[in-house]
Amino acid sequence: MTLGRIFNYLLLNMSYYLSQWFRKPIHWGTPVAISIEPTTACNLGCPQCPSGLKQFTRPTGNLKVDLNTTILDQVGKNLQYINYYFQGEPFIHKDFLDLVKDARSRNIYVVTSTNAHFISPAVADKIVESGLSEIIISIDGLTQETYEKYRIHGNLEKVLEGTKNLVAAKKKFGVTNPIISFQFLVVKYNEDQIDDLYRLAKEIGVDHVNLKTIQVYDFESAGAELIPEQDKYSRYKKNTKGVFELKNKFKNSCWRMWSSCVFTWDGKVVPCCFDKDAENQLGEIKNQEFSAVWKSSIYSDFRKKILVDRKSIEICKNCSEGSKVWV
Ligand code: SF4
Repeated sequence: MTLGRIFNYLLLNMSYYLSQWFRKPIHWGTPVAISIEPTTACNLGCPQCPSGLKQFTRPTGNLKVDLNTTILDQVGKNLQYINYYFQGEPFIHKDFLDLVKDARSRNIYVVTSTNAHFISPAVADKIVESGLSEIIISIDGLTQETYEKYRIHGNLEKVLEGTKNLVAAKKKFGVTNPIISFQFLVVKYNEDQIDDLYRLAKEIGVDHVNLKTIQVYDFESAGAELIPEQDKYSRYKKNTKGVFELKNKFKNSCWRMWSSCVFTWDGKVVPCCFDKDAENQLGEIKNQEFSAVWKSSIYSDFRKKILVDRKSIEICKNCSEGSKVWV
């Protein structure tokens, strides 16, 4: 943390709360967090993911190393957190760890999320050497049968092997980074495995377990089959007609629109990770300076829509953001 970063954070918060108060977009400061998409390619075929289903209408490809540097240069020194993940499997990008190294050299906390199918002992060593701060490993079932129900074409054995390789590499180098987290997407057919998941994580040497509620596109019909029975693991609840609806109150606010944004592999700026197919493009870093995009009338109009009528934005309809006061 630097004085500049603290000041920027205060500016963001002040403008966020003033915007809420006056119901018009006031914006000061620069992003504290961004997501950057290394690639749209993925080795799996998960049913609620356009990358896995190869359903993108936008172009697919890999982030160039020099475009990554441009993004980091232009977003600037107030940036504290990067999630190198949006769609696709990051480790398919052959220079992925070079992207990470560039960000780490700028004193930024760097996280990625992976299906862990490509973490051989040699790759595990390189991950540790890159200085990556945290790695989230998706494990959504403790038997091959439950795992591959959602992670179609996935191999649970590979996930466990990759995780163990990483734990061993950390021991070999005598370091605590990257922090290793298991992410478990709770669905109807794996919700009874949660206790075993904690036991397994401890046994292997995984640092954290994150239970994630599933986002289902068609939760009013076919997707309802994935929604867990236990209410605490679901972001949906049944209404009086027996149809699922979002649990959270739908407020006209979104902290993410003041503090962060997402870059696609080809440099497009989109509001957040819900915009998987980049339908709401706010600018493109190949054609414009990021500062111009961040302050543009397109961005401002989008923020205004959030403040006035968030429900009118398609991607926001299925999002739990805005129920939080502070992030
Ligand atoms: S979907 Fe809408 S409300 Fe949710 S994070 Fe994105 S912009 Fe904000």
